[in-house]
Amino acid sequence: MARVYADINATLGESWYDYDKFNIDWSPPERYEIVRRVGGGKYSEVFEGVDMVNHEQCVIKVLKPVAAKKIKREIKVLRNLTGGPNVVALLDVVLDSSCRYHSLIMEYVENIEWKQLYPRLTESDIKHYTFQLLKALDFVHSHGIMHRDVKPGNVMVDYQHRKLRLIDWGLAEFYHPGTDYHIRVGSRYYKAPELLVGYKQYDYSLDMWSVGCMFASMIFRREHFFRGTDNNDQLLRILKTLGTEQFDIYLRRYGVHFETDFEALLTNYAKLPWSRFITADNQPQASAEALDLLDHLLKYDHRERLTAREAQGHVYFNSVRLEAASTKVESVNDSGFSST
Ligand code: ATP
Ligand code: MG
Repeated sequence: MARVYADINATLGESWYDYDKFNIDWSPPERYEIVRRVGGGKYSEVFEGVDMVNHEQCVIKVLKPVAAKKIKREIKVLRNLTGGPNVVALLDVVLDSSCRYHSLIMEYVENIEWKQLYPRLTESDIKHYTFQLLKALDFVHSHGIMHRDVKPGNVMVDYQHRKLRLIDWGLAEFYHPGTDYHIRVGSRYYKAPELLVGYKQYDYSLDMWSVGCMFASMIFRREHFFRGTDNNDQLLRILKTLGTEQFDIYLRRYGVHFETDFEALLTNYAKLPWSRFITADNQPQASAEALDLLDHLLKYDHRERLTAREAQGHVYFNSVRLEAASTKVESVNDSGFSST
């Protein structure tokens, strides 16, 4: 069972989590106009658009025809989470007259492609953005939802405004203790060990592994930290870094029968010290505090990983928390309440 927020859906009740029962009032599409295509993937085509009523920029995510239940889930999750810190806001849902195209109208984020951005991030940038991501995830998890596809392509960064938004709720799911979930979620390089060994009763901590992978790629300046060619190779890369001793303990602890005919996965590997990944180029970002945080995120045992809230409390973020606290004091002063 999840270490935190395990019963939140039971507490909030069916109207919160039962996405299949909920009714959607679709708007007609005329209000929104497409400006240009900005992305797309397996499940959608995404456009920059404009709201013809208020003339504001927006994003139009046109969903490819998938199961109605999946569409409802994405919308329910977004409705529940909209307004939360650093979560992309859902503004409207649209259905065309042929009833074939379902679109989500969302807040537009002026995003810099992460492959260009990450190599340029300074230590204080990495701290800031990782903290913002953790803030989003703690909010999401505390509302009973696992994102299940945390990766750089799903984290929009507006560098100019130091703004971060977690997007792509297409795989997000409500967490209920004791439930078996699909293990074919996430994107390979960011998949947690539980997905690779077939442990189905995972929880919010799944997302924390992906945060660990993103953090490692930022501090070590490696495009993807674990870059497997398939799921077996993905696990192998992890074993060769974290070592097999802890892996075996983890499998035994959870009674996971992991069978494989892939010889390399049956070999023993020693845990590499994190310092092994330091180079002249990444050394300013890879401080002792950063490595300690990383070590507490990339744990095989999902119950040992830091939660999003715990991670925000790590010493690595001391300066970010101080900054946040002083901005609060300033804004109180600005409003004229506590100035002397
Ligand atoms: P994938 O299968 O690649 O994960 P998807 O079909 O589920 O994608 P999203 O990840 O939601 O769709 O969006 C696809 C791409 O569209 C994003 O990677 C991003 O480049 C762009 N995009 C989506 N939402 C926004 C937004 N709010 N602001 C700016 N760009 C966005
Ligand atoms: Mg995506």
